[in-house]
Amino acid sequence: MTQWLFPPAPTPSLPIAGRPERFPVRRILCVGQNYAAHAREMGADGRPAPFFFAKPADALVTDGANPAFPGETENLHHEVELVCAIGESGVIVGWAVGCDLTRRDIQAEAKSKGRPWDAAKGFDQSAPCGPLTLGDLPDPAAAIALTVNGETRQSGRLDDMIWSPQEVLVQARRFWDVQAGDLIFTGTPEGVGPLQPGDRVEALVAGLSPLSFRMGAR
Ligand code: MN
Repeated sequence: MTQWLFPPAPTPSLPIAGRPERFPVRRILCVGQNYAAHAREMGADGRPAPFFFAKPADALVTDGANPAFPGETENLHHEVELVCAIGESGVIVGWAVGCDLTRRDIQAEAKSKGRPWDAAKGFDQSAPCGPLTLGDLPDPAAAIALTVNGETRQSGRLDDMIWSPQEVLVQARRFWDVQAGDLIFTGTPEGVGPLQPGDRVEALVAGLSPLSFRMGAR
């Protein structure tokens, strides 16, 4: 029996729609620029190869909780994303709607100076995520959208992805031993933009449980 110096942090997890069990999260990989129009708005050209970054598992915000508004940014952005969940079989066993919160100003500085993205992407409470739906993706061409205070900001379709979720998983395995409990944020359609403290965010993928939260105070 391991004797801990202090109690280990709880295992981050997602609720599962219609099930009593929770999905234990091991780590979070994210894809950059996986929708052509968003890649263009971020300055990329052609069909870019997928690239990955990570968020810590404890960046998740779940069960209807509201994320704190992070410090050290004047340009916090929303990115609605389809999230896929890897099961014990090593394949995608479930799906959720996530929001890749991004300190866009810090990311721009990191890009220009060749610095890592951790402070831009992997900060505390940077990964709000809705409940997991197990099984096949209900509709691979489903609408994906995000509204802020009722106004549509992002609107696209899952089949606008440059790399499908299964292709993203294949690409991720080139670099990591992807295992049960891993989540992959599969990228965002165009229309990313700023959030203010108190903004009400609704993120949707047709056929999945929606993600809804209110940004905390600064
Ligand atoms: Mn993203």
